[in-house]
Amino acid sequence: MTIFYKYCGKMYANITNQCPCSCEFCIRKNGDSVGDNDSLWLEHEPSYEEIISAFDSFDKTGINELVFCGYGEPMMRAELLLQVAEYVKSKSNMKIRVNTNGLVALMDPSFDISSFKWKIDAVSISLNASDPEKYLRITHPKYGLPSYNAMLHFAIAIQEYVPDVMLTIVDKELGEEEIELCKIRAKEDCGLPLRIRHYITDNSDEENV
Ligand code: SF4
Repeated sequence: MTIFYKYCGKMYANITNQCPCSCEFCIRKNGDSVGDNDSLWLEHEPSYEEIISAFDSFDKTGINELVFCGYGEPMMRAELLLQVAEYVKSKSNMKIRVNTNGLVALMDPSFDISSFKWKIDAVSISLNASDPEKYLRITHPKYGLPSYNAMLHFAIAIQEYVPDVMLTIVDKELGEEEIELCKIRAKEDCGLPLRIRHYITDNSDEENV
């Protein structure tokens, strides 16, 4: 099963298939893989030992960034993610980024986000929409309407512990007006840049995850 894979010159970590959302644009709905592998559907949720073993045996030549992303929400296994990040930092100079829905406070209420400090270099958070109702229609989180503010709160709070934080949207059927509102939300409410990702439906050669 694929725990690590290469995509657009970076190394990606696929540590879970769990996710409390069902985003309209989720690439999982359109195929089984991204990058240089056949499937990102895991046979089982990998243990710390399995992940470390896969990391050690992976050809990391020329790679300087590891992204926790994959076919699931990596922060569903937040404590494990940080253990793995700590190991990677001890073995390499790789920059470490986490791509997340920003809902860790709802997924794992006891998780202390200050533990990101020194272990995670960058966080990319899915803003997805300019208000809670639109967010619900795009993201379908199982926690309902409070999800949006939980995500915004995480985006603001994590900046104290991680030097490089950004928000993202996917341009699937959003429209110019909504994109502008998202830019305002990101800048004025969170003090963060907004990255606009293009919607893809296949394993194309474009960094989009
Ligand atoms: S949060 Fe990520 S993995 Fe989960 S449904 Fe949305 S895009 Fe897919």
